[in-house]
Amino acid sequence: MSGLIHKARSGGIFCCLVFVFGLTSLYLRYLTSFIHTHNLPVASEGKLRQNINLDNTLNFGARPGVPTYTSWKAPIIWEGMFDPNLYDQRHIQLQSSVALTVFAVGRYLDAYLKNFLTSAEQHFMLGLPVTYYVFTDLPENLPNIELAPQRNLKVIQVEKHSRWQDISMMRMKTISEAIESEIRHSANYVFCFDVDQEFKGRFGSEALGDSVALLHAHFYKLPKHRFTYDRNPKSKAFMKTGDFYYHAAIFGGLWEKVKNMADACYLSIIEDKLNDVEALWHDESHLNKYFWLHKPSKLLSPEYCWDQSIADKRDINITRLIWAPKHYDTLRTP
Ligand code: UDP
Ligand code: MN
Repeated sequence: MSGLIHKARSGGIFCCLVFVFGLTSLYLRYLTSFIHTHNLPVASEGKLRQNINLDNTLNFGARPGVPTYTSWKAPIIWEGMFDPNLYDQRHIQLQSSVALTVFAVGRYLDAYLKNFLTSAEQHFMLGLPVTYYVFTDLPENLPNIELAPQRNLKVIQVEKHSRWQDISMMRMKTISEAIESEIRHSANYVFCFDVDQEFKGRFGSEALGDSVALLHAHFYKLPKHRFTYDRNPKSKAFMKTGDFYYHAAIFGGLWEKVKNMADACYLSIIEDKLNDVEALWHDESHLNKYFWLHKPSKLLSPEYCWDQSIADKRDINITRLIWAPKHYDTLRTP
């Protein structure tokens, strides 16, 4: 009897083994054909996972009132389209890490930096390693911010250009240099922020992508002819038409992409200076030109950078980041 049971058991185990083996070889065949049809280099499991596009999980029908993808099929991220846990889990598995750059030069440091950083600690890329790169002319005045585990802050001293336009534009050069010397060794992604803003809700890993641009809150609903592109043919930022009007207060992506973008914008800015012209909206005009020529792979909706003074809030289901009050008259004076 026990012999029979033993036989039956080992028969069952054998069947199981055959079944598992069959499944495994089917899976391997699927992987091989996936690699071939997608032209991927044969890679480790980690690499393969990285190549499976998380953005395929987006629900493009979740927000019928607004466009959720561009003509070149880049997603436009709105609340309700993504599963935050799925994004976070995948990026934790992939060991994604993020550098955030922010400039606080002159009076902008006292006015904005503390709120910016403390709110980022509450909402920016929670669950992923984050390093803040703070660029300032006054490192000794930095506020004391308590950082959560896996989060670091580096202060880099920069000169204070006398014109605010140059403080803003020359960020492109500094960002590129910081990526080259530091960031590329410690983070996959870089996000560059204006300091005059405050996080209010999740600004998470759904915002990560190869090259990421932000729709400007004041322009996302306007027809193209109202976009304030640079219209001076003498400037390198000149544009007749474009896709969207992007806001330079936030841009990001893989460090390689952000470096290319910052280098190109800086070159155009310098060329304009040599030709004695300045683009209408400075670095923002050059950024718009760059993203016209090199389409971003992901767009962030104005939920990611909202101006609360805008009366029509119908499309805004959540404010993840808001503009801080601007006091140009007192803050921009030398
Ligand atoms: N900035 C700064 N000090 C200045 C002017 C600008 O640190 O005196 C930095 C800061 O990060 C700021 C960004 O440059 O957020 C862009 O300038 P601003 O926010 O004034 O431009 P706007 O939001 O009006 O386009
Ligand atoms: Mn700003």
